[in-house]
Amino acid sequence: MPPFQGLTDVERESVRSALVTELARAEEQTVSLSRQFDDIVGAAELSNADDEHDPEGTTIAFERSQVSALLDQAIRDVAALQRTLAGLDDEDFGICEQCAGPIGFERLVALPATRRCVECAR
Ligand SMILES: [Zn+2]
Repeated sequence: MPPFQGLTDVERESVRSALVTELARAEEQTVSLSRQFDDIVGAAELSNADDEHDPEGTTIAFERSQVSALLDQAIRDVAALQRTLAGLDDEDFGICEQCAGPIGFERLVALPATRRCVECAR
């Protein structure tokens, strides 16, 4: 039998609550970012109606791509956290996907969606 490298039940529950907190935060972020995105799109439509050569047009396009990138990232975060949460009760949870060593409890609580140990993440 390989040596136990996973988490104790208590540690697992701490990681679970860290994941749930992080997931709620990421979900909130997607909501607020999509709202921001809609606002920018709405503002762009208004300003186009007023003057199609509005110099603010480029600023709006820039803002829109910024918010869109942040939104994509937030959506990916939510998906990664949901995946991690779903795999939390697996026997190999907390094992680095690269070197198969323990990721470590501290690191999992700080970065609950991580799949690699601190060495492999470098
Ligand atoms: Zn590793």
